[in-house]
Amino acid sequence: MINTLDTGLEREIERRSGEKPRLCFQCGKCSTGCLFNFAMDILPHQVMKLAQYGQKERLLASHTIWICASCETCTARCPNDIDVARVMDTLRAMALEEGVKPAERNIPLFHRCFLGNIQATGRISEPVLMGAYKSLSGDLLSDIGLAVEMLKKGKIKLIPSVVRGNREVRRIFKETKS
Ligand code: SF4
Ligand code: SF4
Repeated sequence: MINTLDTGLEREIERRSGEKPRLCFQCGKCSTGCLFNFAMDILPHQVMKLAQYGQKERLLASHTIWICASCETCTARCPNDIDVARVMDTLRAMALEEGVKPAERNIPLFHRCFLGNIQATGRISEPVLMGAYKSLSGDLLSDIGLAVEMLKKGKIKLIPSVVRGNREVRRIFKETKS
C-alpha cells in the first residue's frame, strides 16, 4: 500500500526534464487521450501519481514506459502544461541507466537499432534497420512477406544513402550522450 509521499523521484524527474509531476491534479485527460492506453499496465495519470509517491521501482519496471510512443497527445491535452511525454522519456532513460530489465524486451532493442542507424548514416535505411533488429531479436521471418511486397513495389531502397552532414549528426550524438 502507498501511504507516504516521497519526493526523491519527483525531484529527480524535475531535475532531468524540468517537468513537475506534483502539479498533476489527476484529471485523467492524458490517459483518456492516449492512443496506446489499451496496452499499458499503468496509465499516464497513474504514472504521475506514482511519481508523486516515489514509486521508482514500479515505474521503471513497467510496460508503460516502453509502450509509450512519444506522440505527445497527452502533453497537448494536459491543462497544467505538464509535458507527460517528456516524463515518460525521462523514466525510460532512467531505466536504461539503472540497468532495469525492460518489461518490453524488443521495444528498447528496436530503439537502439533505430538510433544506431541514424548515428551511422544520418538517416534511416529500412533494410539496415530491419536487418539489425531482426537478427538481434531472433524474429527473422515474421515480416518477410511484407518485405518482399515492399521491395516489389519499390518502397525499399537496398543501398543505404548517407546524409551530407553526417559528421554533424555524430557530433550531436556525442554531445547529447549524458
Ligand atoms: S506520449 Fe505516450 S503516454 Fe502520451 S499519449 Fe502518446 S503514447 Fe500515450
Ligand atoms: S492531463 Fe495533466 S493534470 Fe491531468 S492527469 Fe494528466 S498529467 Fe495530470
